[in-house]
Amino acid sequence: MNNVDKIKKFIPIMNEISPTFCMAKWHHTTIYLQTGETHSCYHPRPHKIPLNEIEIDPSALHNTSQKKHERLEMLNGGKPSGCQYCWNIEDLGEDYVSDRKERNAAIHTPERFEQIKTGPWDQNINPEYIEISFGNECNFKCGYCHPKHSSSYHKEIKDFGPYTTVKNHRNDIDWFKVYEEDTNPYVEAWWRWWPEVSKTLNILRITGGEPLLQKSTWRLLEDLDKNPLPNLELNINSNFGVKPLLIDRLIFRANRLVADKKIKDFKIFTSMDTWGKPAEYIRTGLDLELWERNFHQYMKDTGLPLTFMITFNILTVTNFQRLLEKILEWRKMYQFKPRDELYHRVRFDTPYLKEPLQYDMNILPKEDFMPYMYSHLEFIKENTDDSRLDKFSNLEYEKFRRVVDYMETTVYSNEKLKEGRKDFYNWFTEYDHRRGTNFNLTFPGLARFYRTCNHE
Ligand code: SF4
Repeated sequence: MNNVDKIKKFIPIMNEISPTFCMAKWHHTTIYLQTGETHSCYHPRPHKIPLNEIEIDPSALHNTSQKKHERLEMLNGGKPSGCQYCWNIEDLGEDYVSDRKERNAAIHTPERFEQIKTGPWDQNINPEYIEISFGNECNFKCGYCHPKHSSSYHKEIKDFGPYTTVKNHRNDIDWFKVYEEDTNPYVEAWWRWWPEVSKTLNILRITGGEPLLQKSTWRLLEDLDKNPLPNLELNINSNFGVKPLLIDRLIFRANRLVADKKIKDFKIFTSMDTWGKPAEYIRTGLDLELWERNFHQYMKDTGLPLTFMITFNILTVTNFQRLLEKILEWRKMYQFKPRDELYHRVRFDTPYLKEPLQYDMNILPKEDFMPYMYSHLEFIKENTDDSRLDKFSNLEYEKFRRVVDYMETTVYSNEKLKEGRKDFYNWFTEYDHRRGTNFNLTFPGLARFYRTCNHE
């Protein structure tokens, strides 16, 4: 059974609870300790974790009263508005594989299913998957990121003020508090919850900021060395743009934890939306020379996998193929040993970006830009072969097909287009001014669009 068939097999099983039921709402969570926020999964907007709830029970880092009410809505067949990402895909037709369907298949076990089906709607759940951010310290300030998640971005806003010429993504910083890692009550609650939640946890993913710059990441790696969790898969989202010393330290820790079977598995995830100068433009702070040094060092010195998180956005549309070509190149270089292992070591996923609006591919005129998308899809198709590890898989093709279909079928109102395009021009004009970049030279395929946006 291939992956798509496996996902479809679980649809009728999950429908027994409700046609909108999603196990990720119970078992997947992302928690931002620096601001005290959480969401399940990572698509809905994060919401605040009440401090009084974690004082009573640290599991409220995940089981907030707001989330419990969203679960109740799903149990009753409702569609929580925060999950619009999935409803958009499902509205395209039954054949489309939404993240909800994919996760239901991935998370399902008879025990978890029974607990949710028969337990009270407001029960506390020890999730099987946690994504945790210990702090916002980061050496990058990717344009679509936020000062909540990047100290460099926070500093830029402190120095230059918010982006006042746009309606979307002004990045004001006066309405939220970023806690210092050392004195953060949410970090304290995390370490109180850890002995309990780690007993049943399957996957822990550390995100940022940049995790390799945070003390808690290293504390956790050392803790696992002393108190092994042989069933745990540990993932780290790193920008891989840090000093080589930190990558070498990571290699040492990861190799040791895996070789001594102190954890089940270790995976690195890294963000990259395209390749070359455009990639450096999107992710300010990225130096591809340093990045490649770190990437090759890691791939040579560990036998572990690495996944690219490609957030498909407006700046990816004209030059995505450059990254696809690099992925094929790396797939040739790095495979599991022995080579009969049927999984890629270099992996990627292509979620599409929803906001801010000026980064949303759907503000582009379709007649001019859909041909780029068809061409990328064709490139993937020509290089798809499930029996070869140096090619793309059918699931990767399917996932990108849904991005193309989504762009093809999403039509915004004239008002929304006008707003997005106006913000596009004003945003990148200000961005170039602050960051010393040059949009038109970096994205010649978008230069005409940029100019026309000036007249919206
Ligand atoms: S329905 Fe979709 S957006 Fe909502 S929790 Fe599930 S996977 Fe995430």
